Amino acid sequence: MSMHSDIETILWSQDQISRRVSELAAKISADFGRCSPAPVMVGVATGAFLFLADLVRKIDLPIAVDFLRAESYGSGTHSNAAPTISLDLKLDINARHVIVVEDIVDTGHTLSKVIEHLKSKGASSVSVCTFLDKPSRRKVNFQLVGEGKFYRGFECPDYFVVGYGLDFAELYRNLPYIGVLKPELYK
Ligand code: 5GP
Ligand code: MG
Ligand code: MG
Repeated sequence: MSMHSDIETILWSQDQISRRVSELAAKISADFGRCSPAPVMVGVATGAFLFLADLVRKIDLPIAVDFLRAESYGSGTHSNAAPTISLDLKLDINARHVIVVEDIVDTGHTLSKVIEHLKSKGASSVSVCTFLDKPSRRKVNFQLVGEGKFYRGFECPDYFVVGYGLDFAELYRNLPYIGVLKPELYK
């Protein structure tokens, strides 16, 4: 796959992503194998849609899948300290084990809000599986619920990245790799 002309560098290729997603799926399948009913995988729209789709196809458990939406960045590259839940779950997660599937954890505001929301709906545990993690940018520490676990695909350096679900102004989500956008495109 050739590189899109708006991309400066590719951080993780389609093959690297696929291998890492397999590893995460194997870990989740092992960790939740004894849990009945199997967990509810909650994708945070829109960014997590590709990661969620790839991940669940590699998890060997009778999981349920749902989505919620949290508004944070709007269309730009700046984080919002007070995200809101703008689309709620369809499923009842009371007394269920929930795994939040995220594209990226940056300041942590979105994830904190999402976890708090799932906890208030009675989840017996809340785990997190994020494709990318930028720990250097963290402003709030999220608290997992119950026996919740934390999984991450890759630790991401402090660049604005796009692809594999991640957008800039709703574009680039469909790139099959993670790339750094040329800074002149958003500065
Ligand atoms: P947080 O609330 O942790 O600051 O931000 C989480 C959300 O901000 C992510 O779900 C994602 O939508 C967006 N975000 C954070 N960093 C990046 C980035 O490098 N690239 C893109 N495209 N979105 C990002
Ligand atoms: Mg997200
Ligand atoms: Mg976005």
